[in-house]
Amino acid sequence: MAKTHQPDQRRRLLLRGLAGLGLAVVPVSGWAGSGVQRVRMSVDGETTRLVFDMDGPASYSIFTLDGPDRVVVDLSGARALNSLDISSNPRSLVEGVRYAQRNGSDLRVVLDLRAPSDAHSFVLLPAQGSPHRLVLDLTERPRMAAVARRVPEASSGAGIERFREPLREVVVAIDPGHGGHDPGAIGPGGTREKDVVLQIARRLAERVEREPGMRPVLIRTGDYFLPLRERINRARAAQADVFLSIHADAIHDRSVQGSSVYILSERGASSEAARFLAQRENSADLRLGGVPIESKDDSLTSVLLDLAQSGSLEASHSLAARLISEMHRVGKVRKPEVERANFAVLRSPDVPSVLIEAAFISNPSEERKLRTDSFQNSLADAILIGLRAYFATHAPPGTLIAEGRLDRHIIRPGETLSVIASRYQMTVAELRAVNDLPNDRIFAGQVLQIPARGG
Ligand SMILES: [Zn+2]
Repeated sequence: MAKTHQPDQRRRLLLRGLAGLGLAVVPVSGWAGSGVQRVRMSVDGETTRLVFDMDGPASYSIFTLDGPDRVVVDLSGARALNSLDISSNPRSLVEGVRYAQRNGSDLRVVLDLRAPSDAHSFVLLPAQGSPHRLVLDLTERPRMAAVARRVPEASSGAGIERFREPLREVVVAIDPGHGGHDPGAIGPGGTREKDVVLQIARRLAERVEREPGMRPVLIRTGDYFLPLRERINRARAAQADVFLSIHADAIHDRSVQGSSVYILSERGASSEAARFLAQRENSADLRLGGVPIESKDDSLTSVLLDLAQSGSLEASHSLAARLISEMHRVGKVRKPEVERANFAVLRSPDVPSVLIEAAFISNPSEERKLRTDSFQNSLADAILIGLRAYFATHAPPGTLIAEGRLDRHIIRPGETLSVIASRYQMTVAELRAVNDLPNDRIFAGQVLQIPARGG
């Protein structure tokens, strides 16, 4: 079963003309053949990363196969300059690499996998002594529940409810800023922004995971670099309903403290400080080889962008305002109003996006605070409450929240009855009784009724 990366259907129209965003096939004009110098592999968090070092740009396509599980990387007009073997790593999702020339001029690389995996890819331009690179990130695909056989529609009378349109959870994309050779800001005590924002993001993801009607997608799961464009692509591929980028602020004046929440502004920043901040957050990406994100590609795109952004800017603003009012309870908020600046990572035309500066890592007391469990937990709690308030008025139609069905649980791939029961503080027997389940068989997408807690 081949799977190629396609923009999802409901956003296809908008994406058309957006310069290849979200597509795995990257056409490069004026290309004259490239060589692959080597393939490097690393494992961090749940991600196995392969980096193809190239002596020039190349167009490529990627697809996955199962039985056995493989990822195939086709590089047009490329050849292997050296052996592309990788050293074995039992924690890696990749068991081995094979490669061969095809059609005289193309290179096919086949990665044999230990488990079915999702593949994300992007290119990096030469930067800081590194050559052209093709980066491939693999994460294990959750396994389906033990028996994935659908109950026939006719078997009515069971407690499993069927909706005419299947309801879904709202998807919260959580993006820990920086990573890998981009540490972000560094505090006077040596605390790195990339580390504390990943910890905060993980705590937030745990909370969103437990929240009825919501589902988190962590954009970066370990300590590795991701360009800004790729962060947007991953949120969009996950069909995110909101995008939260988490950072920690820094400024020369060490006395400045407090948190802030920003949204995108194409027309100038709300303050000089906001403008500098956006410059700093954007510039690391270019320095490290990210492909620049153009704001306007052509007139059609520009019209679509304006239409979509005026809608999502309103939504982004409401989200930011709700987050700020909750973050007041956790600590000092630098400015009570939503700030605007031109952050590249927020430039997703169709997903309401905000950038949270959790605190000033340049302020010694806030730097210490950023490392503590208690601050990280309270901040994650506050963001979750802000998300609840936002979705109470902005949940898209067809979601459990919009339809007021928070007494429902949609089974995810890999979930078991015992996992679901413990999440809702029930026993498996109780859960089965409420839903008239004759045995422990469930399937992904099935909707379970969850009785009100404490009732
Ligand atoms: Zn940052």
